Amino acid sequence: MTERADCAVIGAGVVGLAVARRLALAGREVVVLEAADAIGTEISSRNSEVIHAGIYYPTGSLKARLCVAGKEALYAYCAARGVPHKRLGKLIVATNPREEAGLAALRAKGEANGVRDLAWLSAAEARRLEPALSCTAALLSPSTGILDSHAYMLSLQGEAEAAGAAIAFETPLLRGEPAAGGVAIETGGAAPMRLVCNLVVNCAGLDAPALSRRIAGARNVPADHLAKGSYFTLSGRSPFARLVYPMPEPGGLGVHLTIDMAGQARFGPDVEWVRARDYAVDVRRAEKFYAAIRTYWPALPDGALAPGYSGIRPKIGAPDAPAADFLIHGPAETGVPGYAALYGIESPGLTASLAIADAVAGKLGLAAPVLA
Ligand SMILES: Cc1cc2nc3c(=O)[nH]c(=O)nc-3n(C[C@H](O)[C@H](O)[C@H](O)COP(=O)(O)OP(=O)(O)OC[C@H]3O[C@@H](n4cnc5c(N)ncnc54)[C@H](O)[C@@H]3O)c2cc1C
Repeated sequence: MTERADCAVIGAGVVGLAVARRLALAGREVVVLEAADAIGTEISSRNSEVIHAGIYYPTGSLKARLCVAGKEALYAYCAARGVPHKRLGKLIVATNPREEAGLAALRAKGEANGVRDLAWLSAAEARRLEPALSCTAALLSPSTGILDSHAYMLSLQGEAEAAGAAIAFETPLLRGEPAAGGVAIETGGAAPMRLVCNLVVNCAGLDAPALSRRIAGARNVPADHLAKGSYFTLSGRSPFARLVYPMPEPGGLGVHLTIDMAGQARFGPDVEWVRARDYAVDVRRAEKFYAAIRTYWPALPDGALAPGYSGIRPKIGAPDAPAADFLIHGPAETGVPGYAALYGIESPGLTASLAIADAVAGKLGLAAPVLA
């Protein structure tokens, strides 16, 4: 039997939940279709939980603009709803004089992106803040922080549901096609459905391009590549009060130190291009971690790292291509009336989630921002 629905959001990761909340607050009737049996089981629960400042991304890119706007919105959101978060600050370090020009370029890029609080520190100034640190210079980013991403997702889910949205778990979207007045979609799971929706928004993370290839007529679907990032946890107390990042590497931000809301320090993620989704952490990668970490924390004791977890970045550019921007396609770009799709929502997608939701609403011609 074919039923009608107003909006279907595909995927209940942090982005799908933010989009569902946004559409529901705009007065739309929303159903979220989620293949798994819970919210946020994929990329959204396998990341660093960092609220990024917006430093690294090309000026004017969606990543830069939505990170800076999303960061402000996310801090305001977390403060207003009691979502656990901390504005810890972060240091990006040059570990030898050759890296200092790159660090200065990062500062200039961050400032051009609207990150106005960056401070250049000498080695001595950096060590006054973090005595265990070894560097020749550092950039202090006071607006970088951390959050409890699961508490944030639960809050988004609660607000979406309070505004009338419903989530159907274990309900994968299988395929779709244009239909009179929208998009006809078919779901799998225990109770397969055929729904004709006015709007369908693909927030399927790693599966987003593959899913669009199953929507008849969808155009401009990017290639998909997987870049795994592994983490190692530190036994014992964190030697640093702030997050510490080396200079970025191709595909990622370098093996950096982050701290979760419980105070656990972890290092990573590194970058490993893979073909399959295997989340096991290869203990042999530890050797490279020790070497990378000791460039900025020489006192890292032998045996202090234990395999942690891993996440997979939904890349839409090949390993040798420059980093791709977020792609947010509305009906004009997908070529299917009523169909929007989000691709390549890697870092800083968690930070940017509220701003991404507004950008999607803009593409769909919905009213003014509801950022926080
Ligand atoms: C290693 C790593 C570290 C990161 N660190 C940070 C960070 O510190 N700060 C930051 O801002 N960002 C970070 N990010 C990025 C951030 O985690 C992501 O941008 C964000 O979680 C993406 O959320 P999503 O909702 O798009 O994807 P997901 O969370 O993967 O959600 C997609 C959902 O779609 C569902 N789905 C898939 N196919 C279907 C289908 N056919 N039908 C129904 N449902 C389907 C999946 O089950 C899943 O629940 C990191 C990412 C990685 C990989």
